[in-house]
Amino acid sequence: MKILKDVMEQVIKRDPNEPEFHQAVMEVLESLEPVAEKHPEWVKAGIFDRIVEPERQITFRVSWVDDDGNVQVNRGYRIQFNSAIGPYKGGIRLHPSVNASILKFLGFEQILKNSLTGLPMGGGKGGSDFDPKGKSDGEVMRFCQSFMTELERHIGENTDVPAGDIGTGAREIGYMFGQYKRLRNDFTGVLTGKGLTWGGSLARTEATGYGLCYFMDEALRAKGKSLKGATVVISGSGNVAIYATEKIHQLGGKVVALSDSNGYIYDPEGIKLETVQKIKEVERKRISEYIKYHPKAKYTEGCSDIWKIKCDIALPCATQNDIDENSAKTLVANGCYAVGEGANMPSTPEAIDVFIKNKIIFAPSKAANAGGVATSGLEMSQNSMRYPWTFEEVDAKLKDIMVEIYKAASSAAKEYGHEDNLVVGANIAGFLKVANAMYAQGIAY
Ligand code: NDP
Repeated sequence: MKILKDVMEQVIKRDPNEPEFHQAVMEVLESLEPVAEKHPEWVKAGIFDRIVEPERQITFRVSWVDDDGNVQVNRGYRIQFNSAIGPYKGGIRLHPSVNASILKFLGFEQILKNSLTGLPMGGGKGGSDFDPKGKSDGEVMRFCQSFMTELERHIGENTDVPAGDIGTGAREIGYMFGQYKRLRNDFTGVLTGKGLTWGGSLARTEATGYGLCYFMDEALRAKGKSLKGATVVISGSGNVAIYATEKIHQLGGKVVALSDSNGYIYDPEGIKLETVQKIKEVERKRISEYIKYHPKAKYTEGCSDIWKIKCDIALPCATQNDIDENSAKTLVANGCYAVGEGANMPSTPEAIDVFIKNKIIFAPSKAANAGGVATSGLEMSQNSMRYPWTFEEVDAKLKDIMVEIYKAASSAAKEYGHEDNLVVGANIAGFLKVANAMYAQGIAY
């Protein structure tokens, strides 16, 4: 459709050096063609032109002092993308690769993902090119405090509620929350992923990985398949990968491989999760250490060959563009019948084409990994009520939300003529609610 082509051209013209952002917008706009045809009033009101431009984009200097007394300078960002249906909500990524393109792609995806959860949350994302790897606790603390010293004036429990992401776990959220409270003298739920004794929600740590498995369970069931007895390959060994592994094992599947940015481990007898948690969560070491504890397992340097391991289900849970066209073809040739994206945008557009053409059950990230932000939304509810729910209560709500997301995505796909295409379905289902709200709230918005 010409109008959506024009929107895409404008996005590229405005920021020509943002390939990840272009990739994310392109995928969504392609899915939205039937929606634009059905809603000329939204086209006229510029909904499509406006949704691809962040409401606000903040860039700032983060200076801090390392353990040797040297001054270090990083760049901090917060992309406040869309607040049509609630306060901006999205994680903080700390990784040397962070730039405006990556954060804008993540912030844009977050708008539709948050809408899919059914909870009142707008879309945002933030981060810095700071690398927590190899830094002492003191250095991480000083960085986080400096980061929050600037971010504090832009966020608030009803304005923008950041959370964790790559490189931002419980430790970093703690330092950031402490600094926010110190600056504001205000104890509010301004961040999610907090510790359990100071406003955090039970099951938030597990939520993204668990939610991914609940989604896959539902998607497989709809096609007469099951996680029970399935062999599963997972990339990454961080928060999402670890709790996806735990839930797959609980649901009767077997995870045989995990990775980090250096390489991957293959344990055909099934990954021993306690060992991975000790290495990754306690010691913060490399995944290669695993073979010291389990000599029958194999470690391979480099990440991409992980997708050559024969499996029934692949769950990329590391980072963006992890599965390319060749890896996708290898997975399909080896009999893989389902792919669930735990990470954000881990499959390239060419890889997604391979999956769709081969009728693989393909669960796109904005639907499949929405369990994390959904539980962050539940953390916000508990903070507002000042009343915590039990683990079982939160987990049950998470499961319901993931099942509803699957139903919303699959029925939107069917309604708009793309049956079984969950990419199109998730984009449309997420978009409708946001577009409605933007339309109702007028144009100077
Ligand atoms: P973590 O930092 O806990 O773990 C990230 C994992 O991915 C690590 O094993 C890391 O290896 C690996 N990794 C990171 N970058 C690369 C790279 N360039 N190449 C290969 N491996 C890499 O992050 P999370 O588990 O929280 O996040 C993983 C993904 O899930 C991200 O895409 C994130 O945006 C997404 N996500 C996370 C949510 C959450 O609740 N945590 C919610 C929704 C999505 P290494 O240690 O070597 O860096």
